[in-house]
Amino acid sequence: MLSKSDFIQYLNCPKSLWLKQHKPDAYPEDDSSEYPGKLAAEGYLVEGYARQLVEGRPDSGRFSFQTVFETEDGLYARVDMLRKNEDGSVDIFEVKSSTSVKGDTAHDHLKDAAFQTIAAGKAGHDVRNVFIVHLNKDYVRDGEIDPQGLLAFADATEPVKGLLKETELEIAGALALLREPSIDESSCSCLALSRAHHCESFDYFNPAVPEFSIYSLPNLSASKRATFVAEGRFGLDQIEPGEVTRLQKPVLHAHNVENPYVDLADIDNFLDVLEYPLHFLDYETYASAVPIMNGMAPHEPLPFQFSLHVLHDDGRLDHVEYLADRPQRPLPLVEALEQAVGAAGSVIVWNKRFENGQNERMAKAFPEKRAFLLGVVDRTVDLRDVFKTGYVDIRFNGSTSIKKVLPVVIPELSYEGMEIADGTAAMDGWEKMLGESDPARREHLRQALLTYCELDTLAMVRIFQFVAARDFRSG
Ligand code: SF4
Repeated sequence: MLSKSDFIQYLNCPKSLWLKQHKPDAYPEDDSSEYPGKLAAEGYLVEGYARQLVEGRPDSGRFSFQTVFETEDGLYARVDMLRKNEDGSVDIFEVKSSTSVKGDTAHDHLKDAAFQTIAAGKAGHDVRNVFIVHLNKDYVRDGEIDPQGLLAFADATEPVKGLLKETELEIAGALALLREPSIDESSCSCLALSRAHHCESFDYFNPAVPEFSIYSLPNLSASKRATFVAEGRFGLDQIEPGEVTRLQKPVLHAHNVENPYVDLADIDNFLDVLEYPLHFLDYETYASAVPIMNGMAPHEPLPFQFSLHVLHDDGRLDHVEYLADRPQRPLPLVEALEQAVGAAGSVIVWNKRFENGQNERMAKAFPEKRAFLLGVVDRTVDLRDVFKTGYVDIRFNGSTSIKKVLPVVIPELSYEGMEIADGTAAMDGWEKMLGESDPARREHLRQALLTYCELDTLAMVRIFQFVAARDFRSG
C-alpha cells in the first residue's frame, strides 16, 4: 500500500521510499531524536481539540474521524475528519499542528490533502470541499483551551483541486516505482546537495564517499560542489588547498596533516575580549503546539531552566541552577539569573543566537529586567566560534556542535547513557515532570533535567580551559 506519508516521502526522495519498502533491513531508521515522537503527540492533541470543536456543532452527526480509504490500486488514506453532505458528497478536513498552511516540500499540506482527496475519490466518494485545520497564530491562551480560538479552518478546495492532475501522475509514478524489483542503487541525487539535505540513506547509496569528504567542508558553494562531484572528487585528499575558502581551510588542513588545525591568533582574539568572572550559561526552553499556560501562543518558546557555571580568575568554579517547578512566566528565572550573574564579567554560551534570542524576548516581556538582560546580550561571547577557525579537529567532521566537539577534546565528559541528553528530551522530560504525581518519579525527572543542563555548561568550562591552556599539538 502507498500511504500519505509514503507519498510525501516519495515526493522528497523516491529512492529512499523504494529502499524502505524493498530493503527494510538496509533502511537506516533515524531513532536518535525524540523530535518525531513529540510532533506526533502534538498532532494527536490538536486533533483532539478539532474533534471537540466539531462535536459541539449542530451538524456533528455527519462527521466521522480517522476514516480509512483503501483503494484497489494500492492507496491507503486515513482522513482526520470527514463530513457527509446532504447531497451524498463529502468534505475532507486535514488537521495540522502548524500555524499556517504549509507548501514546502517537507510538509506540503496541500499535496497531503490532494492525496487524501484522490484516495477518497477512488474509493467512490465525491469530494466537494477540502479544509486544512491549523493553529491560529494569534491565539493567546486565557484559561481553559478554547478550541474555537485555537484553531483556524482554511478552505483549501480550489488549491487542492488545482493540484489533482499533477498529484495523480505523481501517485502513478510512486506506485510504478514501488513495483520495480530493482533500481539504480549506485548513487543518489543528494550528491549535489550539502550535508544538511542528506538523509540517513546517503551512505547506503553512496558507499564511495568517504567519512571525511567534500560534505565536511562548511559553506561549500553549490557550483564548487557540482564541479567536485562531476570530477568524481569526493575525498578531502582530492581537494587542493587553493580550492577552499578561509572557513573551509582549517577542515582540509586538519585532514591533510592528520592533526588539529590551530590558529593561535584567532584563539587569542577570542580570549582577549573575556572579562572575569566568566559565566557559562545555557537555557532550556519548552514549546508546544497547544500553549501550556495562560499568556502563551502556539509554539511560543518558554525558558524553564538554566545552568550557570561561574569561573573566577583564581580558578574557583561555582555552579548555580534554576528549574521551574510549574509552567510560569520566566520572571523567577530572570531574577535567579540576575542574582547569579551580577554586573561584571563575560557570559559564555555555545551558539549565542539561541541564548540571546531568549534574552531579547524576555527583555521585551519584562521591561523592569530589560537593562539587565540586554546587558547580558552585550556581554555574551560564543565559544562555538573558536571551533570554526581557531581550533579544528577532523574528527569534528566539519561540525561545530558541542556534541561533536566535546567527545574529541574532553573525552572523559560525555552525554552517553544519560536519560535526558538533548533539548527535545529536556522539553519532554519537563512536561512529564510537571504531570507526574508520584513524588519519587517527579524528583527522578527533576534530577535528570538538572544533570543534563549542568553537563552542558560544565562541558563549556572544560572546553574553554582546554582552549585557554593553548597547550595542544597541531599540524
Ligand atoms: S541522501 Fe539520497 S536517499 Fe537520502 S534523501 Fe538524499 S537523494 Fe534521497
